[in-house]
Amino acid sequence: MPTDPARRCLATVLRRAALTALFAVAPTLHAAEEPVLNLYSARHYQTDEALYANFTRATGIRINRIEAGDDQLLERIRTEAAQSPADVLLIVDAARLWSAQQQGLFRPVKSAVLAERIPAALRDPAGHWFGFSSRARVIVYNKAAVKPTEVATYESLADTRNKGRVCTRSGSHPYNLSLVAALIEHLGEPATETWARGVVANMARTPRGGDTDQIKAVAAGECGAALTNTYYYVRLMRSTKPEEREWVAKVGLVWPDQARFGTHLNVAGAGVLKHAPHPDNARRFLEYLASDEAQGYFANGNNEWPAVKSAVATNPELASLGTFKADPLPIATLGRNTPAAQKLLDRAGWK
Ligand code: FE
Repeated sequence: MPTDPARRCLATVLRRAALTALFAVAPTLHAAEEPVLNLYSARHYQTDEALYANFTRATGIRINRIEAGDDQLLERIRTEAAQSPADVLLIVDAARLWSAQQQGLFRPVKSAVLAERIPAALRDPAGHWFGFSSRARVIVYNKAAVKPTEVATYESLADTRNKGRVCTRSGSHPYNLSLVAALIEHLGEPATETWARGVVANMARTPRGGDTDQIKAVAAGECGAALTNTYYYVRLMRSTKPEEREWVAKVGLVWPDQARFGTHLNVAGAGVLKHAPHPDNARRFLEYLASDEAQGYFANGNNEWPAVKSAVATNPELASLGTFKADPLPIATLGRNTPAAQKLLDRAGWK
């Protein structure tokens, strides 16, 4: 052990230097995660290949993808718990994002880039998830049988003049739950329940199938009107199958509630998982998804609108739908109403 003051002083200096060096290095060590990102994604579109390849080219971070349905991925992450290799979860609809958040699957992300680029209404205020593209829930109608003025609002689907006309998918599907969650916010729960009972009374058939099946049934005249997300409609517009383009030719599209609160808007979004082994890579990936270039790929992949205002979607069919007044309700508030929406739809008999 050093005993004389000079040597003791030198030892202290060296120890301090070593500690300083250690603390200087520590954050760097933390940041230098292995260049891997494990992505659990409910999306699978052709444009995604370019989207992911560009991220890897720009950052050197390799992406391992697990692709499955939204609910399967949520189940898998719950089962894997703390052992989950998943860094980022990409799913659709506010009802599911909220549910994942409620289950504690996400960790909050602080990012000036995301806060600046993603509109506040399209992300969780605490940073658990961020919307990267948007879609609207609209009404399609059979042009030969129904006037657009007869189905100009969500409320109109419960009008007695639309008896026997309405087709819809299940009342437990997140797309309908989120819409009803929004209506609860605007109309209150009693009025929304009365509306739901009216819709059930107007149904042309028991709810079944997805949104595309509703468009097909409207085109065939089996129903007069139906709810659908916009990207299903645009997908049919762009279809290489002539019969699918014919369905679109037979149906009209209305933006509901333009004179009131606006058309219901929802998102596809992503969050960083609580047990993410590569949280820095995950944050960088989300920031990349918010870049103009990535936004183009991401939104176009499913015929949606980019969440970032400055990003431009080069999608003529989507652009041909024109502009509309979107419901400004923050997507994050929908989740709070989702359990009430499910109970209300069950009571109303919306199967
Ligand atoms: Fe969908």
